[in-house]
Amino acid sequence: MNHFHALILGGGAAGLMCAIEAGKRGRPVAVLERADRLGNKILISGGGRCNFTNIHCQPEHFLSANPHFVKSALARYTPADFISLVEKHKIPYHEKTLGQLFCDRCAHDILDLLGEECRAAGVSIFLNAKIQEVVRTTEFVVRSANAEFRAPTLVVATGGLSIPKIGATSFGYDLARQFGLKIRDPWPGLVPLVLEAEDRSRYCDLAGVSAEVIASCDGRQFHERMLITHRGLSGPAILQISSYWKKPHPIRIDLSPGRELTAIFRDPKALRNLQALRSELRKLLPARLADRWLELHPPASWTNAALADFENQVHQWSIMPAGTEGYEKAEVTAGGVDTSELSAKTMECRKVPGLFFIGEVVDVTGHLGGFNFQWAWASGSAGGRAV
Ligand SMILES: Cc1cc2nc3c(=O)[nH]c(=O)nc-3n(C[C@H](O)[C@H](O)[C@H](O)COP(=O)(O)OP(=O)(O)OC[C@H]3O[C@@H](n4cnc5c(N)ncnc54)[C@H](O)[C@@H]3O)c2cc1C
Repeated sequence: MNHFHALILGGGAAGLMCAIEAGKRGRPVAVLERADRLGNKILISGGGRCNFTNIHCQPEHFLSANPHFVKSALARYTPADFISLVEKHKIPYHEKTLGQLFCDRCAHDILDLLGEECRAAGVSIFLNAKIQEVVRTTEFVVRSANAEFRAPTLVVATGGLSIPKIGATSFGYDLARQFGLKIRDPWPGLVPLVLEAEDRSRYCDLAGVSAEVIASCDGRQFHERMLITHRGLSGPAILQISSYWKKPHPIRIDLSPGRELTAIFRDPKALRNLQALRSELRKLLPARLADRWLELHPPASWTNAALADFENQVHQWSIMPAGTEGYEKAEVTAGGVDTSELSAKTMECRKVPGLFFIGEVVDVTGHLGGFNFQWAWASGSAGGRAV
């Protein structure tokens, strides 16, 4: 009974897209999902409105040990392809900022779309499928607590380690290891940073204060907002740079992007004192952060050189985070199945024909802004066209 052409492990964004593409091609496919419903992560995405793609999606919006790997799949399934699906289902959406497309109503619209497309494509879905074992005989045999499934093709779409409380597991990495595939050690990405105790006591009582900054690290920089939290820093600029951060490197923050704070003091008539400097700083930063900055980093004197040092410090705040908030709060897991093991066109393993890896379990991680779903759609579609 449970014999299919392809078994897809994981009913998230990538697995469902793969099932739809394969089903449309007449392939008998089954999705095995361990939770009691599909797409849990879709439902909590984008603050409940699912940032389902980004119209400016390009390969440079992704981290991977091989930055070229994403090119083929992204070129063959574009944001326009997913938008046409959204429009076919008459889902209202809007661009929030920087090309990020969100549902007007809620993320459930996207899950309903995928469910309807699965039904139309004749996809079989098994929920509560807690897989205990995968073996390869002449075909793949997948055993759950109460059933056995067989197919010549197996697609692993079980995602990464982020948000264990909604069921994230290391299953995909374990299975890759079982088949002798290389893994690039995973780490939490798009995650708030935790400050060392001393910096926490200096800044974290300002929790809730935000400012537009440039955050940089490892040759990358992001010009977006930063938010001070109870334990450290968050907001889009920090989430973005967190994916590139590794201990013990510092993160640099420009608190006054593109603006010279002390320019006014070139006027010989300008008074050089704390009040004048505070008033300049408050034009750029929220008052509480401006005042705190001046308290902690007052200029050494009022000479041109001291003011230049002060200016530099504002543009190059160097922070050494104690760590990150970890997988509990990370939107994605970076690292994963090494792309050198996979065909960039089909996502099939080179060493194990018939075995595919798609979505977040692969060593491909998008920037914040709809890129991770676009990778799930594109890699899922690549797999679905090939199985
Ligand atoms: C809070 C939050 C908000 C986010 N918002 C956005 C956003 O707005 N835009 C964006 O682009 N990205 C967003 N992301 C990232 C995005 O959700 C993921 O990159 C994307 O869901 C990955 O898709 P996937 O199908 O590879 O994995 P997942 O969506 O994680 O799906 C994997 C599925 O496999 C199942 N599974 C796991 N182990 C097993 C097993 N052993 N057997 C069977 N099934 C199993 C899981 O239950 C899950 O349903 C967000 C992530 C989080 C955590």
